[in-house]
Amino acid sequence: MAAYCLILDEIGDRFVNDTYWFGCSHETICYIISIKQKTAQHEPTLQQVVLMHMKSGKNMIRKFLLLLLLLVPVLSLAEPLRIFASVVPIQTFVQRIGGEHVDARAMVRPGFNPHTYDPTPQQIAALSGAVLYVRTGVPFEKAWMDRIRSANPSMQVLDAREGISLRQMEAHAHDEHDAEASHNDHDEHDAHAGESDHEQDPHVWTNPLLVTHIVGGIRDKLSKLAPDHRAYFARNHDTFVAELSALNVELHKLLDPLSNRKFMVFHPAWGYFADNYGLTQVSIEHEGKEPGARGLAALIDQAKQEKIKVVFVQPQFDKRQARQVAQAIGGGVVSVDPLAADYVDNLRRVVRQFAEALKP
Ligand SMILES: [Zn+2]
Repeated sequence: MAAYCLILDEIGDRFVNDTYWFGCSHETICYIISIKQKTAQHEPTLQQVVLMHMKSGKNMIRKFLLLLLLLVPVLSLAEPLRIFASVVPIQTFVQRIGGEHVDARAMVRPGFNPHTYDPTPQQIAALSGAVLYVRTGVPFEKAWMDRIRSANPSMQVLDAREGISLRQMEAHAHDEHDAEASHNDHDEHDAHAGESDHEQDPHVWTNPLLVTHIVGGIRDKLSKLAPDHRAYFARNHDTFVAELSALNVELHKLLDPLSNRKFMVFHPAWGYFADNYGLTQVSIEHEGKEPGARGLAALIDQAKQEKIKVVFVQPQFDKRQARQVAQAIGGGVVSVDPLAADYVDNLRRVVRQFAEALKP
């Protein structure tokens, strides 16, 4: 609960709806606690009880001593740092490290596609209260990063990819000069303007070992922004990193014994994940472009040869082409989400799906 204390001389009894008021008709000083969040408005907190006692006290020195005691906890209830992350998993990481001291938000809201997202005017306005933006290089940022920065020039920007050697998006050799290549609606979108054929893969968070690196950067940045909470951020960081390391061991156990090492996805979000576990991602879509008829036929041939039975899709993308491929290979379509908020549990679920699909 964010609360603050005001001391006023002989004030009246008019207060805004979210303010607690402790009457002062018989006193020279009165005290108000304003409860900014309305959750516990009708139950007096310990501090409020102290205030009510102060009201009846006669000794001014005693009152001021009580007030000092009161201010210590109140001042520590500073507003949490507002932090924007480009996508939901990064928001989760910021929340895990920052805990109660951060108000972490995702720019690309759940269910939306980070390749084509347009921030809302409300989100751009909310940036003015933010101290940090954590970017990942997902394609919407290409069009929006300048506007995000200029919405709040004093806001710091942390790049989650810092210190990570980025992989290239796989090229579709058979598709690059496909005259029939169809384009998604969002290819017209300016988020894709200027993208070269060989983009760096922004989906760094799908590898839990890279996440242990990313959260180190988040801990360091938060510690600079709120040095008083350095130890708290360090504890949260260490707990989360231990969880991620255990997850990595667990995922290796599930994936290492599989003899089939190739999986097919519609959108290539799992490259860093695949690299970490010695798997190969075969992608239908390539940097926002769906394959044309020839590209699709080649992918179907490849899937048959590799005995691929499942095409993985994600909720934020259209599933028509994935279904088309799955039908042609007599397989199925399974949804796995690289953008889920419950990062650790989700990755566990995803890997069970991968392991099931790769079973001989
Ligand atoms: Zn993506």
